[in-house]
Amino acid sequence: ATTTMSPLKIGLIPADGIGKEVIPAAQKLLESLPNGPKFEFVQLDAGFEYFKKTGTALPQATIDTLKSECQGALFGAVSSPSHKVAGYSSPIVALRKHLDLYANVRPVVSVPSPAFPNQRELDMLIIRENTECLYIKSERQEIDTATGLKVAYADRKISEYASKRVGTMAFNMALSRQKLREQKPMNQRFWKNNPRVTIVHKSNVMSITDGLWRETVRAVKENNSEQYGSVDMEEQLVDSMVYRMFREPETFDVVVAPNLYGDIISDGAAALVGSLGVVPSANVGDTFVMGEPVHGSAPDIAGKGIANPIAAIRSAALLLEHLGHPEHASKLYDAVNAVLADGQTLTPDLGGISTTDQVVDAILKKL
Ligand code: ATP
Ligand code: MG
Repeated sequence: ATTTMSPLKIGLIPADGIGKEVIPAAQKLLESLPNGPKFEFVQLDAGFEYFKKTGTALPQATIDTLKSECQGALFGAVSSPSHKVAGYSSPIVALRKHLDLYANVRPVVSVPSPAFPNQRELDMLIIRENTECLYIKSERQEIDTATGLKVAYADRKISEYASKRVGTMAFNMALSRQKLREQKPMNQRFWKNNPRVTIVHKSNVMSITDGLWRETVRAVKENNSEQYGSVDMEEQLVDSMVYRMFREPETFDVVVAPNLYGDIISDGAAALVGSLGVVPSANVGDTFVMGEPVHGSAPDIAGKGIANPIAAIRSAALLLEHLGHPEHASKLYDAVNAVLADGQTLTPDLGGISTTDQVVDAILKKL
């Protein structure tokens, strides 16, 4: 079939370390989708290495191109220096702000594979508020007059505006996941209940900030009972959230959390389904989506050609899903899962001996 649709324009920002290896891998798979959408890729600069060369971590040209020309982007990974470097701030944080990517979305799904023996069965989606909480970076240090010693403070921001829009996304995604489960029996493997949104907070301690968060997200359903009536809503204190996630991860569907709690539980959840090398994420706004593997730049293995490309490839699938191509996303997920199920072609982080390129080729064959 011929298509008259204009190509999807996607910005590619490999940035640092293994980002330079896994982003080309993901690009190759997007280009190889059978009867897939037409893509136009633009290579864009950013990152700590770029900062060391030029003094800026995120050139204005990258922001402008993404804003004015692209529908989505794929971001590799950025090295975070362990100590403060004058003039440097994370380009990923800045990009989220410039493009108003207010939610970080992380599907955490178990896939049968000899690489993950004794894996728990789960299929959850973590939605992390991405613009506020302690990440507003309002910190200060003073000398405590009573002791003469240093004391440091941080402000935490929770707004009704940000909580409401991310809460709304959570209920909408609960409904769309339910729809997908109905269409595709494979997706019904674990979840047989009503769609469910779990609201994570700690309002027993932080009654004003977490209290506002909890109340605002609850109100999304309470004020739209017609739309969200079929979605169950529950609450979970963040500490018991972690406990329950390790004890009974199969009891979660969509989980929505403020920025910092979301950061912590999503790394914990990644540990339940194998390695950092397989977990994708997407930064989602109302008009732009940016896929981003959960792992960092992995300086210990960068340049060796053995980085696991699966997290980046799944991030590309997530990007497709959010750009309105769930059927192609689904094909890409299936091809990746088939390679994992085989267990024949795996990178060293999953106990295999294959290279990045060999894994890409194996996934291409399944496609
Ligand atoms: P950064 O500062 O960029 O976050 P990091 O040192 O924290 O760097 P991560 O990328 O977070 O490194 O990775 C942590 C560990 O997991 C490293 O040992 C790394 O090699 C491994 N790892 C991460 N991603 C992958 C991948 N895609 N393939 C293989 N191993 C990976
Ligand atoms: Mg890291």
